[in-house]
Amino acid sequence: MLAVDAHTHLYSGLAPLGMPAPEPPPENFLQILGRLWWRLDRCLDERSLAASAEFYASEALALGCFGLVDHHESPSFVDGSLDVLADACQAAGLRAVLCYGASERNGSRAEAKAGLAECDRFLRENRRPLVRGAVGLHASFTVSDETIREAAALAREHGSVLHVHVAEDAADVADARRRGYAGVVDRLDRLGALVPGSILAHGVHLAADEVARVGDAGCWLVQNPRSNHGNRVGYPKALCHSARVALGTDGYPADMAEEQRVLLAAAEEHGDDPGHARGRPAAGERLLAERFGGPFGEADRAAWERARERAAPRRAAVRERAIVEAERLWRRMRELPR
Ligand SMILES: [Zn+2]
Repeated sequence: MLAVDAHTHLYSGLAPLGMPAPEPPPENFLQILGRLWWRLDRCLDERSLAASAEFYASEALALGCFGLVDHHESPSFVDGSLDVLADACQAAGLRAVLCYGASERNGSRAEAKAGLAECDRFLRENRRPLVRGAVGLHASFTVSDETIREAAALAREHGSVLHVHVAEDAADVADARRRGYAGVVDRLDRLGALVPGSILAHGVHLAADEVARVGDAGCWLVQNPRSNHGNRVGYPKALCHSARVALGTDGYPADMAEEQRVLLAAAEEHGDDPGHARGRPAAGERLLAERFGGPFGEADRAAWERARERAAPRRAAVRERAIVEAERLWRRMRELPR
């Protein structure tokens, strides 16, 4: 089995290097986003993003990760941001599926259009052999129906897929209901956004019939046990109702062995089907292979092993560069108005 991180965020790669704690301490999921991750991503410029991606990719290889599916946002540096991530992954020898997560979280359709335009540009221009593009939406609760329809149309036009956070917190479900839908899956489905092969991260607050509807549409769900535990959003008990469920780290280092350990412990604690949970790590390889047009073979594995050998002596220097850039980024975060 090749270890694949089916949902992560290269933009948070510097976080383990002393990211300042959110203030005041968040009490719920939306406050965690607002006081931490949405402050971090607004402070990212090209230099800090490059250092973040280089460090995350270097560590991922060292941890035995073969490839990853990234979901990106850097609102102060949108155009060209996916190239920065792609260059880091291609140079490291790490396979990656990249998208920009379009959002209207600051209230503007223009913001979402810029995000989708970056996905479109990247899907048209990218020729890197180890990298594929996708179309991203941040989450159902931060986008309008028009943006969801446009994202789905863009994915179909490119023969690509959507990558979106779904029902990570109950707030996402409540938002979809306020808009007149039965839930997030109903909203995506009715807007034509369950594009086959699409990647729906989390699904913590989905019911069994919603998970089955996602699976029947040929879409993937991705469980992120360490992140779900850390954000105290709950355990996704209904995921056992689809065979297309993979494992991601949601920005934590791409240590898939550790993620699997936490998964199996959490599955037992919450009475999840252990056989089903054990199949999730391997599903990531199938998910990634779909985006690369077929299963990976011995030649792919051998090339990855050579890349790991080449990268090992450079790991310490990459970390040193990341530490310098992280300090600059934390300064910018502290200076950002609240
Ligand atoms: Zn995520």
